[in-house]
Amino acid sequence: MKKYILSIDQGTTSTRAIIFDRHSRIVSMASEEITQLYPTPGWVEQDPNEIWLTVTQTINEALVQNSIDPTQIEGIGITNQRETTVLWNKETGNPVYNAIVWQSRQTSSICEALTEKGYSDIFREKTGLLIDPYFSGTKIKWILDNVRGVRKLAEEGKLAFGTIDSWIIYKLTGKVHKTDFSNASRTLIYNIHDLKWDDELLEILDIPKNILPEVCESSSLFGYTAEKNFFGESIPITGVAGDQQASLFGQHCIEKGMVNSTYGTGCFVLMNTGDNLIKSENGMLTTIAWKINGEVVYAIEGSVFVGGSTVQWLRDGLKIIKKASETEGMAKSLDSNEGVYFVPAFVGLGTPYWDSKAKGALFGLTRGTNEAVIARAALEAICYQVQDVLYAMEADCKVSIPIVKANGGATINNFLMQFQSDIMNLQVQRPAIMETTALGAAYFAGLQVKYWENHEDIMKYKKPDIVFQPNMPEDERKELVRGWKIAVKATRNFKL
Ligand code: ADP
Repeated sequence: MKKYILSIDQGTTSTRAIIFDRHSRIVSMASEEITQLYPTPGWVEQDPNEIWLTVTQTINEALVQNSIDPTQIEGIGITNQRETTVLWNKETGNPVYNAIVWQSRQTSSICEALTEKGYSDIFREKTGLLIDPYFSGTKIKWILDNVRGVRKLAEEGKLAFGTIDSWIIYKLTGKVHKTDFSNASRTLIYNIHDLKWDDELLEILDIPKNILPEVCESSSLFGYTAEKNFFGESIPITGVAGDQQASLFGQHCIEKGMVNSTYGTGCFVLMNTGDNLIKSENGMLTTIAWKINGEVVYAIEGSVFVGGSTVQWLRDGLKIIKKASETEGMAKSLDSNEGVYFVPAFVGLGTPYWDSKAKGALFGLTRGTNEAVIARAALEAICYQVQDVLYAMEADCKVSIPIVKANGGATINNFLMQFQSDIMNLQVQRPAIMETTALGAAYFAGLQVKYWENHEDIMKYKKPDIVFQPNMPEDERKELVRGWKIAVKATRNFKL
């Protein structure tokens, strides 16, 4: 009987269950959307029970699709939207409030108060992160402070906190309360130097320690599925990592200095920095990539808030395209950007600017500017933003990056990939199998159960990447980048 690895990819907008074989091929895949709840402007929540339901349904569907028996699954890997926070009652297994999603801004005032009290440096020093509603810590505090009866549950030892990985592990096993190092490092309460939940930070946020999960290596035995929860079988859960870290691993960025960039709704660029915990001076976050075989691997990370969603805006906002894929032909139909730049700062600008007040802008319009020009400027803007992150990374790490691995939904666009390579003057590699996040979780899981002996074993079956080589004259490149810089500056100056 053939054996497989099951990967659960619980993302912000959907849950996917993907079954991989030894050749990293997708054997079957099922996906379901997650309902986004917006109780108040700026707040984003999800129903943890719905998330759990989509997990069981997609697993079931993936198995049925190819008549795979649960006993054929050697191990389960989980990768998840990071930072999203769930608190639940350990006795009943019921959530005490909705999941507060990473994008949600409902803890802005908590963050402002912490910053005013001068806590920025201590959080930054210990966690590698910034005080921002994005991370879990202030979300936990918000639920404890605002939902009646929750603090009492904590005092009675019945409350559990988890990021989505923990929530899924808990539901799959019926009892285990664990997370992995990559997810813990996104909570704002985990000390990435000492590798411990940090007492001082917990005290500042008034979070009781007894609600926190045990932190485990990304590739380790987290527990076994409870038979009633997993179609009558007890299967080991052996791989867990946050989505961007799983992506880094799934893209084989296992050596120091390797870089992966994910082009989804937003763009996330991570560099493996090995055992080197780099303190950024250019607006990057420091985080744990994973811990395996007793060794911690660190990463630095930069984020672009509006990446692929620029293209969504062309479709749903401006309505100049019907499908995202049309942008490729439109951009290719032109010889140049015609002097038009688009700075899609719809929700401010991320790394390295961290300018939350910036708003989007289009520059250089003439009577001849048409849809194609705007589509091209939108795609180019994604690339310029990633380039800004890369420059910051190079400055922080004092290296020059030779290759960028690319993954995520927007990488299907060949114009985008070629322009990224041209403008950065370096090689961009796109994988043959696009589901690299799920694959990363599968690798963590499969290595633990010896489905793959080691990384070389994985690489034996790897299909070659599609390579984009830079092909733009130096003076043209410099001139384009100069234009982008002027556009960003003008955008940031425009504040009413
Ligand atoms: P997420 O995981 O953030 O939901 P995905 O990795 O699924 O995102 O990528 C979806 C994003 O990619 C969307 O923002 C979409 O606009 C963009 N996208 C999809 N296809 C294309 C394309 N052919 N060209 C440019 N952008 C695209």
